[in-house]
Amino acid sequence: MATSKLVSNTQTLLKYMALEQKGSIMAEYIWIDGTGTLRCKSKTLTKAVKSVDELPEWNFDGSSTGQAPGDNSDVYLRPVAMYPDPFRQHGNILVICECWDSDGTPNKFNHRHEAARLLAANASHKLWFGLEQEYTLYDEHNWPYGWPKGGFPGPQGPYYCGVGTGRVMCRDIVEAHYKACLYAGIQISGTNAEVMPAQWEYQVGPCLGIELGDQLWMSRFILVRIAEEFGAKISFAPKPIPGDWNGAGLHTNVSSEEMRQPGGMKHIEAAMKKLEARHVEHIAVYGEGNADRMTGKHETASYDSFSWGVANRGSSVRIPRAVAREGCGYFEDRRPASNADPYQITGIITETLYGGLPA
Ligand code: ADP
Ligand code: MN
Ligand code: MN
Ligand code: MN
Ligand code: MN
Repeated sequence: MATSKLVSNTQTLLKYMALEQKGSIMAEYIWIDGTGTLRCKSKTLTKAVKSVDELPEWNFDGSSTGQAPGDNSDVYLRPVAMYPDPFRQHGNILVICECWDSDGTPNKFNHRHEAARLLAANASHKLWFGLEQEYTLYDEHNWPYGWPKGGFPGPQGPYYCGVGTGRVMCRDIVEAHYKACLYAGIQISGTNAEVMPAQWEYQVGPCLGIELGDQLWMSRFILVRIAEEFGAKISFAPKPIPGDWNGAGLHTNVSSEEMRQPGGMKHIEAAMKKLEARHVEHIAVYGEGNADRMTGKHETASYDSFSWGVANRGSSVRIPRAVAREGCGYFEDRRPASNADPYQITGIITETLYGGLPA
């Protein structure tokens, strides 16, 4: 996809962004399309709302997003979570929506619906999730930002948690994203430069149940939207550059109330057995192109088999050293790829630990 340098004038834009809205607010309705890519459109509300239930349902042309056939193209947007809008500010909001078909069933690509039901059915376990979102910044030629044109930087080593010119790229985007997430009320818990130059990570969580998926998708929207302003592209590809360059993951940290209590280690170990038995089912929803990333090298495990270990970054699941020492806490599922859907991840983990929905 070609990008063109927009003739933009930030100073002039700011003058209009500060204008009074005469009581109306702008709501940006956001959803996930048939390819796992974000879409959005704006709606004026004549007054502010206090909760998401007050937001009207809306619709869009699903034949333009790969979500519906042309002869029955209406897909409905049902608001499920809202956040203060860091772009427009002034009481305007960002809204995460579920997609529903006209016959009253969830759209084929609405993975939130099932996950929300699984998590609600198991609410008593008080599942917390904390995800580590890795991503790569690309320039307009779809090459990692700041890499020599058509060439490669020096080998990995100096870049992870790096400081300084030539070691990190685009810190301005990372800083803007961090602040904007805090403004929006996203529980962003930190950020760091990654092993491959132009690759970064931020963490969201721990969040209770379905809130993790909502917040992570919102944090991705904010990231992609900010990068648009800076003229960079966000890639969630699991293995952006083949060879001796780290891939990008979405490490998923998980705990139930039982696991967090003293003696919780036995619940974590029981979870390992359950996860092992369903490795194939998990891998199926842990992101596209993940086999290229999970080579057994670069801090990944093998794609084909399940393993777990204390402090082992080469296993499918890692128990942090401190958790093993204290005998309770959480585990880290290192298998999900950076492009995986957090609704599918949290949904299948819940199902594997506690069983599916009653028929
Ligand atoms: P790593 O050492 O793997 O790089 P990070 O510090 O990047 O770990 O991320 C750890 C993640 O674990 C954070 O997103 C945090 O929210 C999450 N986390 C911490 N405690 C828990 C818990 N009890 N349950 C679930 N997630 C947790
Ligand atoms: Mn139209
Ligand atoms: Mn991390
Ligand atoms: Mn990382
Ligand atoms: Mn991790």
